[in-house]
This record gives sequence, C-alpha cells and structure tokens, in this order.
Amino acid sequence: MAYDDQNIFAKILRGEIPCDMVYENEHALAFNDINPGRPVHVLVIPKGAYVDMNDFSVEASAAEMVDLMKAIGEVAKICGVDQSGFRLMSNTGADGHQEVMHLHFHIFGGAPSGPMIKRIEKL
Ligand code: AMP
Repeated sequence: MAYDDQNIFAKILRGEIPCDMVYENEHALAFNDINPGRPVHVLVIPKGAYVDMNDFSVEASAAEMVDLMKAIGEVAKICGVDQSGFRLMSNTGADGHQEVMHLHFHIFGGAPSGPMIKRIEKL
C-alpha cells in the first residue's frame, strides 16, 4: 500500500494539527492517544513516512529502527509503567484493524490489560 501523506499522523508530524507530546527523538515521536483506552495510552510513531510494520521493517534505516525502539522504552519510563507493566501493540492492515495508515505502536498501561486477545469460536 502506498503511503498517504494526508493521514492524521502525517499532519501531526508536519505541525498542521496539535498533539499532546510525551517524548521525541531524532526519528520518533510519542503523544497521548486522543481517545485513551487505559489510564496510560501513548502512541509511538516513526517520523518517516511508513504505512505499517511491513513497510518499516523493509524500508527503514537502522537508525530509525533504533530510535523507535528507544522511544518505546523512554515513554514507558516517563509514564511510570516500566515497572508495573504495559501492553505494546501495533495494528497492521485489515485483519489487524489498523485505522491510521502511518505505523504506530500503542502503549497501554496503568491498569491490567486482561487476556491477550478475544478468541474466536472456530479457528
Ligand atoms: P489504530 O486502530 O491502531 O490505527 O489506532 C489509531 C489510534 O489513533 C486510535 O487509538 C485513535 O484514538 C488515535 N488517534 C486518532 N487521531 C488522533 C489524534 N489526532 N491524536 C491522537 N491520537 C489519535
């Protein structure tokens, strides 16, 4: 899938719409989710134009990958969930229920996340 630079996170990165920033480094930005599902719900995104993990894992530089991973660890500390624990999630594509087509990791914390996934009856 081609990257659409009109997606909402691209607009945040260009400063066209605001975000509630938590952390940034050279290649990654983290901000609070506008519709939080947990007391802590932060989105961590690469600053580069990547649709999802398929795209990022092939196209991103080593420096971009390192900064994205570092950002996740820093956000966990900043938000005080590094010791209590958190769920890290990246929805990808149709089956992954991805709504914003710019790679992002959700960090959920501050309350138990529950079982990993809602099971379907017949696999
Ligand atoms: P996903 O379903 O994984 O693509 O998640 C997209 C997430 O982006 C949702 O949790 C939304 O609440 C969040 N979101 C959408 N627009 C904004 C925004 N302007 N600022 C912060 N979070 C947003």
